[in-house]
Amino acid sequence: MKRGTCVKCSQPTVFAARDGISPGGGGSGWMVASPMGGAVVKQGIDVDTLACAACGYFENYADLGALAGVTGGWTKVEPQS
Ligand SMILES: [Zn+2]
Repeated sequence: MKRGTCVKCSQPTVFAARDGISPGGGGSGWMVASPMGGAVVKQGIDVDTLACAACGYFENYADLGALAGVTGGWTKVEPQS
């Protein structure tokens, strides 16, 4: 998607916008699993949205700095062969 081609339909119809499609309505923020257990609401995490105008598929990318706690607290998904 970041290279301008849709990963689903392979069309060159990808558009980008900051906070283009936010999760849920009402601006209630993101729920992020906490390393201490449970979940915390992260307010105001900026995301970059990439959307395909041909098939409707979209992706959101969170700011990497805002996800700094993820690598220490979440379970890493190992690549499968
Ligand atoms: Zn597409």
